[in-house]
Amino acid sequence: MKSSDSLISTVKEAPNDAQIISHQLMIRAGLISKLASGIYSYLPLGLKVVQKVEKIIREEMNKSKALELLMPVAQPAEIWQESKRWEEYGPELLRFKDRHDRDFCLGPTHEEVITNIAKQYLRSYKQLPINFYQIQTKFRDEIRPRFGVMRSREFIMKDAYSFHIDEKSLGETYQIMHQTYCNIFDRIGFNYRAVLADSGAIGGESSHEFHVLADSGEDAICFSDESDYAANIERAETLPQGKPKPAKQTLELVKTPGVKTINDVCNLLKIKPTNSIKTLIVEGDDDNLVALVLRGDHELNEVKASKIQGLKQPLQMAEEEKVQQRLGCSFGSIGVVNLDIPIIADYAAAFLSDFVCGANENDKHFVGVNWNRDTSKVTSSDLRNIVTGDPSPDGKGKLEIKRGIEVGHIFQLGTKYSDSMNANVIGEDGRAVNMNMGCYGIGVTRIVAASIEQNHDDKGIIFPEAIAPFHLVIVPINYNKSSRVKALADELYNDCLEQGIEVLLDDRKERAGVMFADSELLGIPHRLVISDTHADNGKIEYKSRKESDKVEVDFKVAVNFILEKLA
Ligand code: ATP
Ligand code: MG
Repeated sequence: MKSSDSLISTVKEAPNDAQIISHQLMIRAGLISKLASGIYSYLPLGLKVVQKVEKIIREEMNKSKALELLMPVAQPAEIWQESKRWEEYGPELLRFKDRHDRDFCLGPTHEEVITNIAKQYLRSYKQLPINFYQIQTKFRDEIRPRFGVMRSREFIMKDAYSFHIDEKSLGETYQIMHQTYCNIFDRIGFNYRAVLADSGAIGGESSHEFHVLADSGEDAICFSDESDYAANIERAETLPQGKPKPAKQTLELVKTPGVKTINDVCNLLKIKPTNSIKTLIVEGDDDNLVALVLRGDHELNEVKASKIQGLKQPLQMAEEEKVQQRLGCSFGSIGVVNLDIPIIADYAAAFLSDFVCGANENDKHFVGVNWNRDTSKVTSSDLRNIVTGDPSPDGKGKLEIKRGIEVGHIFQLGTKYSDSMNANVIGEDGRAVNMNMGCYGIGVTRIVAASIEQNHDDKGIIFPEAIAPFHLVIVPINYNKSSRVKALADELYNDCLEQGIEVLLDDRKERAGVMFADSELLGIPHRLVISDTHADNGKIEYKSRKESDKVEVDFKVAVNFILEKLA
């Protein structure tokens, strides 16, 4: 393509709301254009990149024997009522009415639609297993759209849904999808990890997320330094630590006037937060209160806590007024001694002895507290986020934490939707069985942003060849003034096209500096420069976007030179 036939829409400045580099560069390179919060257009070059990602995904999905289809964006409320998600799904589900006053929503995901299809067209176990996929626009009314297309409201997803006669078959397709995802992310050139993910109510190790490693990632993921254990920290377990050491200190009530936070208490009493506890009060499932106890330096993991029996769903912190009324003190003063409500201590908190906690009286704390001696109604559980250095739950090595961008998610749904929507087939024995289902998502547009997070420098994007808008840019200097340069550039351009090289000829009447800067900002992997000087000695200049060195190449072998680079 010639630049004059394209839209090179680079801009100097990124908007103020662009906090992360991929957002800034996608705007500056003219790949996307914002229409409203979290809603973007893909400009011609941006669309090229998206389509390359889609092509890789499509090829690998087809290889896995998944079948492509296309489902609607607008979905009637009825199917969502059938699955019970019309009530369950929060405000991320954008709902609207049609002219006949019927309820509809914009699809944030397509389990309901595909299950509706499966119900109609899958009749017998003989048709199973079957895996359908689509590449399609999703709408989620995200509470905080940000980072450009990384967390947008409208985005493109590849979503697949598989149907099975039993769990074993689901497990097999799940493994195939796991491998397919690895193939896709390898081809895109990501540095990524597949990590165990939280699988919600379904449990088991039936969900993996694929994370691209990047400091700007919104998720924290952890790995063992000695084994291949890797998990989202929402999910990474901590282990019981055994019985606490026997008490050495006596229980003592001390005055802590005006002191509320753990750090202030620790400073005043000259102890470490690792020897204190904090007590959070949450709602039980019967208008009662329950105390969750963590070591002073640890943080509550809400995903884990919300799975504990006897607590209100979703997890809800108690109102301070209610706490004051029932327990007789404010939040900062709650402790476990003489606390007459169920206490659930995190394993690490349960392992402490001679620790400090609030005294359930404002401005006072207990020191020298010991669980067995001084408390009652205590059970222990895994409640906290893991921290660097925690032992790996598989017993091998210690955990490290890194930031990740979730680009894919595979999930064994079991019969959740086939039960609620009554999607069954006739099994081998002639009886109807509700089908097992798997679902498999990839954030197509998020991939483009994630790739830029991993591949950029101070000049701009450094696209991997697999998804670059062009493989090669030809920059002729004085194309519109020097007939010699123009002839050589045109010849080279045509030869490249003939060889199937995706080439951009920058034929704009721009200064060389502008053309260089644009090609670097756009991240085109290979560049050839033709000038009069080069024409004199039959050579042209080559530069890889990844390297700083330039090399001279004989004009005659330039096309082969590029072909070798692309091989
Ligand atoms: P997140 O935790 O990031 O919100 P999710 O768990 O809601 O993701 P899924 O429902 O599993 O995501 O969707 C499949 C994939 O779609 C995700 O792995 C992600 O790559 C992509 N995705 C999800 N939400 C967005 C969004 N708001 N903008 C862009 N891509 C998204
Ligand atoms: Mg989400």
